[in-house]
Amino acid sequence: TKITIAIDGFSSTGKSTLAKQLAQQLGYIYVDTGAMYRAVAYFAMQENIISSSGFDKTALIAALPSIQLLFQFNEVLGFAEMYLNNENVETQIRTIEVSSFVSKVAEVSEVRAKLVEQQQEMGKNKGIVMDGRDIGTVVFPDAELKIFMTASAATRAQRRFAELQQKGDKVSYEEVLKNVEERDYIDTHRADSPLIIAKDAIEIDNSDLGKEEQFKIVLDLVHE
Ligand code: C5P
Repeated sequence: TKITIAIDGFSSTGKSTLAKQLAQQLGYIYVDTGAMYRAVAYFAMQENIISSSGFDKTALIAALPSIQLLFQFNEVLGFAEMYLNNENVETQIRTIEVSSFVSKVAEVSEVRAKLVEQQQEMGKNKGIVMDGRDIGTVVFPDAELKIFMTASAATRAQRRFAELQQKGDKVSYEEVLKNVEERDYIDTHRADSPLIIAKDAIEIDNSDLGKEEQFKIVLDLVHE
């Protein structure tokens, strides 16, 4: 019988790559919850609710009912893309600008409540792989399999840097490392649902682990 798989961990630990592989192998649905927080941050940027000069939390909370998030499966790409109010924002939400604001947006309890509710709804039926920061602790505390992924900040920054460079984003390694460390700090220190490892999660440090190796380890942990 199908199960629920929760994959949590720090940013750029390769959670989404692993989650996608697992979903594909098992025929499960994959949900990238980071994309949802990113889409909210992107919305806030577009509406001038958040910028380098400040963040109007009250305005964001007031605007929440007008934010519609939807995943739509792309047959060609083989994965679901993020839609914000019917606009495909898959590319826009992956920039360093969005990354620099997203953790501040994710600190807002009202934002978390809305997104968690939607995530729980998506996972009502088993056969789902969801990745994020609070999946095993808050969204699906009863998930049959919980993985917590870690890797050194330098390893993670290097990975994200290579990714951004490939996309033509002109960003320095130092900037990416600073962003990774800042997000780690905010994610682990926020009052609401801070990033912590669930008691029953299995921790995997993949600093020195290849993608295939890691996939095999996790696949062996799946007991349907
Ligand atoms: O996974 P990704 O790096 O795309 O997530 C972006 C940000 O969204 C994280 O740094 C975190 O602040 C927030 N997030 C969260 N809870 C989740 C998923 C993401 O707070 N379940």
